[in-house]
Amino acid sequence: MRLTAEETARAAAFFTEGIARRVSRPVRLMEVCGTHTVAIFRSGIRQLLPASVELVSGPGCPVCVTPNEYLDTAIAYSRRPDTIITTFGDMLKVPGSDSTLMAEKARGADIRIVYSPLESLPVARDNPGKKVIFLAVGFETTAPTAAATVLQAEQQGLDNFLVLSAHKLVPPALQTILSAPDGKVDGFLLPGHAAAISGLEPYRFVAETYQVPAVVTGFEALDILQAIYILIEQLAGGKAELANQYRRVVKPEGNPSARKILEQVYQPAAANWRGFGGIDGSGLALRPEYRHFDAQTRLPLDNVVTREPAGCRCGEVLRGLIVPDACPHFGRSCTPEQPVGACMVSVEGACAAWYKYGQGRWTYA
Ligand code: SF4
Repeated sequence: MRLTAEETARAAAFFTEGIARRVSRPVRLMEVCGTHTVAIFRSGIRQLLPASVELVSGPGCPVCVTPNEYLDTAIAYSRRPDTIITTFGDMLKVPGSDSTLMAEKARGADIRIVYSPLESLPVARDNPGKKVIFLAVGFETTAPTAAATVLQAEQQGLDNFLVLSAHKLVPPALQTILSAPDGKVDGFLLPGHAAAISGLEPYRFVAETYQVPAVVTGFEALDILQAIYILIEQLAGGKAELANQYRRVVKPEGNPSARKILEQVYQPAAANWRGFGGIDGSGLALRPEYRHFDAQTRLPLDNVVTREPAGCRCGEVLRGLIVPDACPHFGRSCTPEQPVGACMVSVEGACAAWYKYGQGRWTYA
């Protein structure tokens, strides 16, 4: 059913007034996931919120949190004549220290865009004289497919298929934000797709240990509005609970089949995040029995020199400490066409979303 313009305006006013009535102090909510950031902008949710409710983006854009050293390693592999790189398309434009995968592709590197890691296997089969390295970037949502690809490569005897793993887990990053002295978040909108795999348990510590309310949320505008409402009601009532707004998709136990494959192939490991540094247990490394698929084990590289783009404040954006237009590069020397940092590249990046939908018009004091 479509609402008329008048009905929509009445519903929006009802929401805004309801929120404003319940908020007695400024509150800061973090939408952890880049998909939520984009949905919030697209649907105009920021304009519906009273000024006392601030929405900040979090570390949920996989391309954004992948550090430069990973990109520099991928670029170094792409320069080897005996390798083919397979990758999701949004990695191509991310600036490394002195190049991008797109620039390397233009110079002749064999870099192929795939929509699923499984598409790497026919490439490996057709090119037995080359190593095919899949750039495994993403969270709980994409990692099970990468794990299933490793299992298939094993079954098919494809020992020239390799994985450069930068998979990450969301909860340890939230723990880092919550335990940081400069991190002040009053409530979290949690990523529904990641929780659909992991279940609710890994997020329970947010409310139980840190007394911060959190809501697992879907991706429609109404899902997000409802989740914000739940957070505000909890804050107004002095409660801190983990709620599941996305019950039509997220089961408390998650997806047992996906988790089983993930746990068969990967084990938690320390990982580097852009803006956070190393976080224990926040990455996924191939288990010893699958380590022969690990690119860095099979093809160790020497001296990959890495540096961060000068003046880029992506790290602070990802930790929710600043909004993108607080960065002096924003919209000037850094745009989606000419990105300085990773947060301006991915469609889910906070800087890209601010540029495309907001252009900084909703900066909070
Ligand atoms: S606007 Fe560009 S340079 Fe600034 S934080 Fe975002 S990505 Fe980095």
